[in-house]
Amino acid sequence: MFDSITGKLNDAFSSINRGRLNEANIREGMKQVRQALLEADVNYDVARDFMKRVTEQAVGDKVLKSLRPSEQIVGIVYQELVLLLGGDPRESEFSPRPTSAELGVKRDGLTVIMMCGLQGSGKTTTCGKLARALKQEKLETVLVAADLQRPAAIEQLKTLGGQLDVEVYAEDPASSSPVQVCRNGVKHARKSGAQVVILDTAGRLHVDDDLMRELRQIDNKCAPDSAIYVADAMTGQDAVNSAIAFNDALELDGVILTKTDGDTRGGAALSIRAVTGVPLKFIGTGETLDGLEAFHPTRMAQRILG
Ligand code: GDP
Repeated sequence: MFDSITGKLNDAFSSINRGRLNEANIREGMKQVRQALLEADVNYDVARDFMKRVTEQAVGDKVLKSLRPSEQIVGIVYQELVLLLGGDPRESEFSPRPTSAELGVKRDGLTVIMMCGLQGSGKTTTCGKLARALKQEKLETVLVAADLQRPAAIEQLKTLGGQLDVEVYAEDPASSSPVQVCRNGVKHARKSGAQVVILDTAGRLHVDDDLMRELRQIDNKCAPDSAIYVADAMTGQDAVNSAIAFNDALELDGVILTKTDGDTRGGAALSIRAVTGVPLKFIGTGETLDGLEAFHPTRMAQRILG
């Protein structure tokens, strides 16, 4: 996902490396870093604040008087990237396996997870991926087909459930409503002794009042333990702007960024946490059910720096 930004950051670092190192050429290199962020479609304010923090440290005496100033600068950018992504630069061990702990699954009783996002963001597919990951932990899961907006969504979820041998709760869309399906789905999951129930709610092409009203109703009636926003990495700042609207309506607990295997510039990944304050939990890395990875800020920052 980060080919272009990685190349541009490395160009910036090598331009700092050329010639005698002084404040002027560090500042020049920093301009190139800023340009790389903006070209990757990073939110403007996020890029500005990031550059302020990096530049303050990079032109300090500690760097200029050090033996390897350019390495220090790469280190500063790395640290700030990790912080931007919501992590701790000291974290060094990470498993790509998505776990139930990251989803906030409780040890006892039923955990209700509400998925939301725009149409086409990958919600239904991601419900299947999560069910697969939970099944690997031997957690009994029920998927609830509450996307009555997109005609094929119910069948799609049933097919995924069939592949995974995971139960899918659905009702006839002609005589039901999304709120009713979710309520009944949660009741059903509780009665059947499941540990997790995942609500696949409807998206729309754009954020609109009807959608938000419907989601708030589901939120009120089903009191989910986790509200997870699914964002399509390919849509860049649009994904970030809709995340703000969903977070205002639902107080999100986490974000899953899909299609990171595609040709995206990385702006959504780099901005969404800083703009919304909501942590990124997982990333979608492919269309198949095993295409889901845990999100680790340190790992992502290392990938960005190449
Ligand atoms: P929904 O409308 O939000 O439920 O979206 P879908 O789950 O139907 O996904 C829309 C499209 O995105 C489908 O073609 C999926 O196969 C595809 N998709 C979902 N997640 C990923 C991903 O991580 N990588 C790739 N390459 N495609 C994905």
